[in-house]
Amino acid sequence: MSILNKIKQRNLVSNIAILILISTLTDLVLAQKPEPLAANSAEIEVLPVQGNLYMIGTGGSNIAVMVGELGLVVVDSGNIEASDNVVDAIRSLSPLLPRYIINTAVLPGHLSGNSAIGAMLPPDTRGGFGMSVIGHANGLTLLATEFVEEVPFELWPNNTFFGESKDLNLNGEAILIEHQPEAVTQSDVMVYFRQSDVLVTGDIFDISSYPHFYPELGGSLQGMIDALNRIIEITVPEFNQQGGTLVIPGHGRIASESDVVEYRDMLTIIRDRVRLMINDGKTFDEVLAARPSLEYDGIYGAGSRNWTTHMFLEAVYDDLR
Ligand SMILES: [Zn+2]
Repeated sequence: MSILNKIKQRNLVSNIAILILISTLTDLVLAQKPEPLAANSAEIEVLPVQGNLYMIGTGGSNIAVMVGELGLVVVDSGNIEASDNVVDAIRSLSPLLPRYIINTAVLPGHLSGNSAIGAMLPPDTRGGFGMSVIGHANGLTLLATEFVEEVPFELWPNNTFFGESKDLNLNGEAILIEHQPEAVTQSDVMVYFRQSDVLVTGDIFDISSYPHFYPELGGSLQGMIDALNRIIEITVPEFNQQGGTLVIPGHGRIASESDVVEYRDMLTIIRDRVRLMINDGKTFDEVLAARPSLEYDGIYGAGSRNWTTHMFLEAVYDDLR
C-alpha cells in the first residue's frame, strides 16, 4: 500500500469517527427535545405559569388551572385517558374545588375530561346540575350534529353563551371569555385572566403544529388569522418582546407575544404564497411541489397528531380556491 493510500485510509477512519460523534451528539440533542404526548396517553405534565395560573399538559390538549381561595377555574379538560392524573394534579395544586370549567372549543381532546373534573364536586353540592361548564352556544350545534357519537351528552358545556363575550370574576381575578366566530371551528373562545396576565387560546394558537382549522365545523383560514391578530392585540410584552402576558396554547409549550407574532406571520406568508400560485393557475400538486412552507416545516411540520404539512397546505389551498 502506498503512503498516499495509507493517509487516505486514515482520513477515512477519522472521518467515520467524526460522523459517529456528530450523530451521537444529534441523538443527544434530539433526546432532550420533549416529544409531544400521544393523543390517548395517560401522561400529564404540570407547570406553573404566572400569577394564579398553572398548566397541565395532556395528549388531548393543554389545561389551564386558576387557583384561589374561593375556588378554581379550569380551562379545557384534556383527553379521557389522562383524566385520573389530571384530577390528582388539580388536587395537588389546591385543596379547593373547581367552580367552573371553560371549554375553548368542542373538540373531543379539549373536553373529554369534563365529567371526571365535574365529579370532583361532592354529589350533595351539585344541585342536580353538576359543574358549571362554560362554552359558546355555537358549539352545541356541532356536538349535536358532528360529534354525537364521539362526545356523550354528559361532557357537553351546560352553561353556554351567545354573542361575543362573557365575563366572570373569581378570587379577585377578572376572567374575560371572548368568542372567535370562525377560527378552528365556529365554537372557539379564548380566556384571558387579567390579574395574572395569562391568555389561554385553545387551538387558535397551537405552537406544536401548523394551524388546524375545520371548514366543516365553521372554521376558516381568514378567521384563524383574525383570531391570531386578536391574541396579539390582547398580549403586552414587558420588555424587548420578553415577559409580560404569557400565552397557554392549545398544545405545546408556554409562549409569549413574540411567538404568536411569528406564528401569525408564518400563516400569512404561506397564505400569500399559495394565493399567488392559485392566481397563476397552479394545481394543488404544483403548489405542493413548490414547497411554499419550506423554511417552517422543521418547526411546525412534524405531522404530529395526524395533521401533516400536506394536509395543512391542502386546507389552505382549498380555503383560498
Ligand atoms: Zn387541540
